[in-house]
Amino acid sequence: MGKIMCNKIILPLIIIFFSTTYLSAQNTGIYVPPQFQKIYNGDTRTWDGKPGPGYWQNSSDYTLKVKLDPGTNLVSGEGSIIYYNNSPDTLGNIVLRLYQDFYKRGIARDWGWRDTDLHNGTNIEKLTINDQELDPDTAGDRTYTNFIVKLPESLPPKSDLKIEMKWSFTLPDTITVRMGKYREGGIMVSYWYPQVAVYDDVDGWDRTEYTGSVEFYNDFNNYDVEITVPENYLIRGTGEMLNGKEILDEEIYNRYLLALKSDEVVRIITPDDLEKENITKEGWNTWKYKAKNVSDFTFACVKDYLWDGIGVVVDSMTGRRTFADVLYRKDDKNYNEGAEFSKMVVELLSYHLPGVSFPYSHITSFCNGRRGGGMESPMMTDDGAPERRSGTFELLFHEIAHTYFPFYMGINERKYGWMDEGWATFFPKDFPPQIDSSYNHYVSTYWRYRPVQGEENDLPLMIPSRFIKGYSLTATIYGRAFFAYVSLQSLLGDALFKKALSEFINRWHGKHPLPYDFFFTFNDVAKEDLSWFWNPWFYDFSYCDLGLEKNDVGKLVVKLIGTQPVPVEVSISYVDGTKDTVTESTGIWRYGNRKFVVPVNDQKKILSAKIITDKIPDYDPSNNKVVF
Ligand SMILES: [Zn+2]
Repeated sequence: MGKIMCNKIILPLIIIFFSTTYLSAQNTGIYVPPQFQKIYNGDTRTWDGKPGPGYWQNSSDYTLKVKLDPGTNLVSGEGSIIYYNNSPDTLGNIVLRLYQDFYKRGIARDWGWRDTDLHNGTNIEKLTINDQELDPDTAGDRTYTNFIVKLPESLPPKSDLKIEMKWSFTLPDTITVRMGKYREGGIMVSYWYPQVAVYDDVDGWDRTEYTGSVEFYNDFNNYDVEITVPENYLIRGTGEMLNGKEILDEEIYNRYLLALKSDEVVRIITPDDLEKENITKEGWNTWKYKAKNVSDFTFACVKDYLWDGIGVVVDSMTGRRTFADVLYRKDDKNYNEGAEFSKMVVELLSYHLPGVSFPYSHITSFCNGRRGGGMESPMMTDDGAPERRSGTFELLFHEIAHTYFPFYMGINERKYGWMDEGWATFFPKDFPPQIDSSYNHYVSTYWRYRPVQGEENDLPLMIPSRFIKGYSLTATIYGRAFFAYVSLQSLLGDALFKKALSEFINRWHGKHPLPYDFFFTFNDVAKEDLSWFWNPWFYDFSYCDLGLEKNDVGKLVVKLIGTQPVPVEVSISYVDGTKDTVTESTGIWRYGNRKFVVPVNDQKKILSAKIITDKIPDYDPSNNKVVF
């Protein structure tokens, strides 16, 4: 529905015809702060969850040259940024993010380090704006990680400006937070260039500092990047590799071309190749990459790494392919299957959930050799090497799933981490049993959530993520969000859930959706006021606990003791020795219902009954069984 529906005169009519569509703050059933009411009453977003006719966002074209010296760990860059102001506002400042200042002595961080791990911050050697040279020391304020540059002349709406910079920093020596030198010849370069912060219709400039915990909130930009590294280093980065043919050994390049179209894994760089030390042409090489409409640019820089790749058809109608490739060392466990795993993941994402054809031309996974953990960026993942096969598969699944949230969907995970980590945790839910039939993703995620359950640290998801620290942050934005989405899927049923999720993605990909856009879109597609569900899971302090009891008239009753609504599964044993399982959707708790009489076979006498808690984060197991 379009904007006209907000008109007060037709509102009563709409409510008669479609009582569950919410067209103003008063009847959304959820708390919409006045700051956001103003936005939804304006023209950038609508009360039914769509981008409004006046929706806008800003963007940049980055043309960057970077040299990485693995001998000294020095990264030196220069280049230009054309910044497009599509907003209706005149900008007096421009906020640049200098992520590497995260390692600067004296700034606030979410955790502490030894002084020897730190440096003096990003060295800015040159800064010009619209060809006017500025003194980097006096051009603006350097806060912790932001550089707020005062523009010599303000930037009016619908105009652009050119920033030129030259900068350098040293890769941190021993620390690797989402990037860095993991081992000799194994480097992931992210958070490496001065990046214009997001200016949006909600907060204006995003001035959130990068203190460690917060992650992405980026514009959709174009990148033209040249990366110079010594011989035999391979670069895989965001976007299209433009000059691999000129740099790579001919045989290796031909294998790469073959792999793009192959349905089987091609070993592009083999142990034999590594022995011959003939990966690239001699001397320093400059790799060229180009990426359009992506929210970041990162690259892996590897030497003595194997490289496997496989083509994946991600759109069965057009036959469009994605290239799934992995970079790893021979002794990185499970990674000889990495390309095959990535292919399975990309297929599950494209055809199952979210069921949206994989949007990029490649997904490259770099193995950093550490025990676990991973990090995502557009078309690139940076992954540890878990012991178990299921661990590696799950890790790749999680990081590749991030392609949709926060990249295809420009989530502000600095405020709403659950809109991103929650989904990346949710999609691997339907874990292929052929990988490891003993792995249970629900249980593994439950143990992620469990540490905060029943504590004051189990925080409502709507608390902006940047204010939540430590295990409370991960427990809630991964664990609690996972079970919220699982319960939502049960509530709507698989088909309607997928329809609503697809609609949300269709409406907002390439844009910056807010939580309200998510809630309103699901209300709109489900044609139901779901606020009774949104409130306990997203807004309230709450926990999940089901209980079982026999009521006054001998009926079996499930009680919602904690207030998080979840699906119900009860196993019943009858006196005659037979058994039964009753499954009910989250919908039985509609509109705050707290008791549910379990439909049982009245012809039989119940011996005992038990709540099955495999797929819910039930807090107290002691009230889950009743003996008749
Ligand atoms: Zn994640």
